[in-house]
Amino acid sequence: MTQTSLAPTYLVRTLGCQMNVHDSEHMAGLLEGAGYTAAPAGADVADVVVINTCAVRENAATRLYGNLGQLASVKAERPGMQIAVGGCLAQKDRGEIVSRAPWVDVVFGTHNIDVLPVLLERARHNAAAQVEIEESLKVFPSTLPSRCDAIASGWVSISVGCNNTCTFCIVPSLRGKERDRRPGEILAEVEALVSQGAVEVTLLGQNVNSYGVEFGDRGAFAKLLRACGEIDGLERVRFTSPHPAAFTDDVIEAMAETPNVMPSLHMPLQSGSDRVLRAMRRSYRSERYLGIIERVRAAMPDAAITTDIIVGFPGETEEDFQETMRVVEASRFTSAFTFQYSPRPGTPAYELEPLPKAVVQERFERLIALQERITLEDSQRFVGRELELMVLDGGGRKDGDSARMSGREPGNRLVHFAVPEGADVPRPGDMVTVRVTHGAPHHLLADSGLDGGPYAVRRTRAGDAWDAAQGDDHDHGGDSCGTGGGAPAGPVGLGMPALRRA
Ligand code: SF4
Repeated sequence: MTQTSLAPTYLVRTLGCQMNVHDSEHMAGLLEGAGYTAAPAGADVADVVVINTCAVRENAATRLYGNLGQLASVKAERPGMQIAVGGCLAQKDRGEIVSRAPWVDVVFGTHNIDVLPVLLERARHNAAAQVEIEESLKVFPSTLPSRCDAIASGWVSISVGCNNTCTFCIVPSLRGKERDRRPGEILAEVEALVSQGAVEVTLLGQNVNSYGVEFGDRGAFAKLLRACGEIDGLERVRFTSPHPAAFTDDVIEAMAETPNVMPSLHMPLQSGSDRVLRAMRRSYRSERYLGIIERVRAAMPDAAITTDIIVGFPGETEEDFQETMRVVEASRFTSAFTFQYSPRPGTPAYELEPLPKAVVQERFERLIALQERITLEDSQRFVGRELELMVLDGGGRKDGDSARMSGREPGNRLVHFAVPEGADVPRPGDMVTVRVTHGAPHHLLADSGLDGGPYAVRRTRAGDAWDAAQGDDHDHGGDSCGTGGGAPAGPVGLGMPALRRA
């Protein structure tokens, strides 16, 4: 769509997890469909500012009201400007947001993203704030239009909501029971993304291993992975997040036997203590967890396995924490998102007595130190190996000082690689083969091209599409996708913020 300079501008500020990033892309797509145009890159105000909130983060409310406080004075100087608040905190706090910040024009929930343009219009027409929250999903978010900035990588929702009841988590009460999309619909969206240039797709759900429960097919997720393997032009398939309780061996087999399904797994552990897992109402035990890891490694020896861990859940003893350390040592995670437990209003664990802060902090630091060592060892074992990297969207610019660019290897490890003088410079989404020369704590270096070692660029359709979009950007500020969304790949926790990644 060619934009005119008179079209009102919009901006979406995302305060939450990857599920929120995905929803933000749909909000942007809906606004563009309604005639708004994206505010220029780097702008922090626009005619419409949407704040997509997260209720899981410890300081979510502080961040929301901080953002709203800042926008109040901007709005006073900018007649006609509108502010909308969506996402998990909006679903939870509803009308309270307008009471605390009466300059907000629209509040909408996680189940009715599609009404955003209508509510903005109605608020303008009625000159009154519109608060509309649905209790259950009316339109599956992935069927809404989306604006994606990254071409090479796309995210596709396979399910929303969660049927589990982990006592620390607010997701079930805000996102509702699990709803599964039909495989045909998901595959059509993946194919649409691939036809637009994507070479990598991440399948997204709160609990991908229970995908299919709603329509009575327990093997549906493994079948979905295998079906993605049949899609021509799709080079890398990832997914997040699986739940250890629902993890079945058919998924491991599908991963190992489908060449474009990448050997990477983000599987939340949360605690290594069976007693704490029981208190968290997580129905697997540490031996089951370790058994899955063992079978994944037997099938895919280089698999990058990442996790989420909560330290200091109420009642956690030193013995419980030692169990977490034992499981972490045995699991050899590539990296871990580690959290200090903090109570969330509205969750069952909110009522429990928290541990002293100093105790939690001390355990947290011991866990970080252990994981840092394991992460470094994981990196160092790659030195000398040849890897094919997908050049990152956004992170793929050639750095002036080091002449390095960045990409991700099949397991999703971050690799910075040198581009030799006069050599072919890859574009985001192109594939590069290099040899690893150094293993650092959180990335690998691959400078093999500098001394005549391996350096080869394979140009991809994603790179071609990126080139084409650069031309488009000069015309009207970005490219629009019909469905799906894009984001740089990387291990992510749904609904759980990363306080510290080790
Ligand atoms: S932590 Fe994950 S599995 Fe547990 S209730 Fe929350 S979303 Fe569901």
